Amino acid sequence: MSRSLDVLVVGAGPTGLALALQAAAHGARVRVVDGRARAARPSRALIVHARSLEVLRPLGVTADLLAEADTAPSVELHLGRSAVPVRLGDLAVPDTAFPHLTFLPQQHVERVLAAALADRGVQVEWSTQLVAADDGPEDVAAVVRRNGGEEVVHCAALAGCDGVGSTVRAVAGIGWPGARARVEVVLADVDLAGELTAGAAHVGAGRRGLLMAFALGEGAPWRLVATRTAPDRLPAGVGGPALPADELQELLDVAGLPARVTDVAWSSRIALQHRLATAYRAGRLFLAGDAAHAWSPAGGQGMNTGVQDATALGWRLAAAAASSAPEELLASYAAERRPVATSTLLLTRLLFWGESATDPVAATLRGTLAPLAAPLLPWVLARRRLVARGFRVLAQLDTGYPGGPLAREGSTPRAGRPHPGDRVPDAPVTCQGREVRLHELLARPGVHVLLDRDAPDPSVTGRFLHVHRLTSSPGRGVVAVRPDGHAGFVSGAVDAELGWWLAAAGAAGR
Ligand SMILES: Cc1cc2nc3c(=O)[nH]c(=O)nc-3n(C[C@H](O)[C@H](O)[C@H](O)COP(=O)(O)OP(=O)(O)OC[C@H]3O[C@@H](n4cnc5c(N)ncnc54)[C@H](O)[C@@H]3O)c2cc1C
Repeated sequence: MSRSLDVLVVGAGPTGLALALQAAAHGARVRVVDGRARAARPSRALIVHARSLEVLRPLGVTADLLAEADTAPSVELHLGRSAVPVRLGDLAVPDTAFPHLTFLPQQHVERVLAAALADRGVQVEWSTQLVAADDGPEDVAAVVRRNGGEEVVHCAALAGCDGVGSTVRAVAGIGWPGARARVEVVLADVDLAGELTAGAAHVGAGRRGLLMAFALGEGAPWRLVATRTAPDRLPAGVGGPALPADELQELLDVAGLPARVTDVAWSSRIALQHRLATAYRAGRLFLAGDAAHAWSPAGGQGMNTGVQDATALGWRLAAAAASSAPEELLASYAAERRPVATSTLLLTRLLFWGESATDPVAATLRGTLAPLAAPLLPWVLARRRLVARGFRVLAQLDTGYPGGPLAREGSTPRAGRPHPGDRVPDAPVTCQGREVRLHELLARPGVHVLLDRDAPDPSVTGRFLHVHRLTSSPGRGVVAVRPDGHAGFVSGAVDAELGWWLAAAGAAGR
C-alpha cells in the first residue's frame, strides 16, 4: 500500500497549527483536519509568552505575530482603594529577544499560524471530524467524516491536538485522571463606562475571586475574564451559556473595579478541570496541547505549553518519517514534555488557588491582605531581578530537558553553557566576523551545529542542517541545537556522537 501522508494533525487550534507548521517546515507531508465549520472563534488565550515566540521564530511567523501584539503592556492592579500601575514592557531579561509580556489574542495567533501553513501548501480542512483510528501493523488508518461522508486516511503518525475532549486520546485508550474545578471562568466582551484608564489592563481582586478587564475585546472594546464559584455543572471544554449584564456587573463590583457595563456583545462560561493524560503516546498516536493536559488559565500556560509541545513533536515526526530507526526520537517526546506538564499543573493550581479560591485563607489574602500590602507593591516591583525571575518561570524560559534521552554529552566535556538539554540562550556571538544574537542564527528550520572557534569542520551538508562557526567561542567544541532551540549534543570535541544529530537533520557527507 502506498502511503502519501506522514502526519495527520487532528485539531486546528494553536497546538495543531504550530505542530503542522513545524512538521511541514521540516519536510513532512501533513494534513490538518478540524471539526469546526470555520476558523474564527472567540479568543480564550490573550497572553503569549517569550519561550513560545522563541520556538516559533524559526518558522518565520514571529514578525507577523508581533505586528498586532502589545509588547509593552501596562496593568493597573486595583487593590482596595489603591490602583497600582505595573509596566510589563521591559523586564530586564537579557537572554531573550522578547523580554516583555505579550498581549496577543489566540484568534490572531491561530490566523498567523494558519496563513503560514497555507503558504507551505497546507490548508486546514474544516468541518472534518476524526471519528475513529486504527493503529495497524503498517500505519494508522484514521476515519474522518465530512458532509456526511467518510474517508479513511492512512498516515505514519496521528497527532491528537484536539483539545480537552480529545477523540485521539479516547481512541488510543489513554487515561485522563484529574478533577473538575469548583470554580469556573466567565468571559465577556463588553462596553464599559467609568474610570478605567484606557489601554491598560485592569485587575481587581476581591474576596470572591479575581476579575481582569483587557482592552482586547473582540465584539466590544473590553474583554472581561473573571473567576467565580460555578453555580451548576457545565460540560467540560465547551463554552457555556451567556450571562445577563447584571451578573457581569456584580463581578466587576465584587472585584472593586470602578466601571459600569453599558453593553454586552458576547459572554460565555467555561468549566475548568485539572488533568494530565497518563501517556502522551500510544504507538503511532500522539497527544499534544489541551488533549494532553488541562488546567486553569492562571499564568497563561495552556496555549503556550501547547505550542511548545507542538514544536517538540513536529520536527520529531518529520525526522521520524525520513528515518529507518525513529523509535528513540519518538519515545523521547513524552519523556521530555510530560514532566513539564506535571510541574505546570502544580504551578497553575497554586496560582489559581490564589486567584479564585473562596476558602478563608485565599479570600483573606486577596480581599484583606493584598489591599493592605498595596503601598509596598511599587517597592517590590522595583526589584527588577525578582520580577525577572517570576517572568522567567511563567515564560517557561528555564524549561529544559537535562538528563533527558536526547541530552547527550560527547567524549570530551565542553566548558560553559549550554549543557545538554538546556534552552540555548539568545546570547551575543560573533559568526563570520559579524556580531549577532544567537537566535538570529537559529531562526531557520533544522538542526544548527555551532562550532567553537577552533573546531574541525564536520564536512557535511543537509537540507535541514546549518553549520555556524562562532569565533567568539574559544575551543574545539561543538553544540548541536535542535529545531526547538534546545541543546542536543554538547561536546568539547567533534566526535562520532554528533552523527546521530546530523542524521536527524538528514545530513550527508561532503
Ligand atoms: C478563559 C481562558 C483564558 C486563557 N488564557 C490563556 C492565556 O492567556 N495563555 C495561554 O497560554 N493559554 C490560555 N488559555 C488556554 C488556551 O486557550 C488553551 O490551552 C488552548 O486553546 C489549547 O489549544 P489546543 O490547540 O491544544 O486546543 P484547542 O484550542 O481546544 O483546539 C482543539 C481543536 O480540535 C478540534 N477538534 C476537537 N475534536 C476534534 C475531532 N474529533 N476531529 C477534528 N477536530 C477536532 C476543535 O474543533 C478545536 O479547534 C486560556 C483558557 C481559558 C479558558
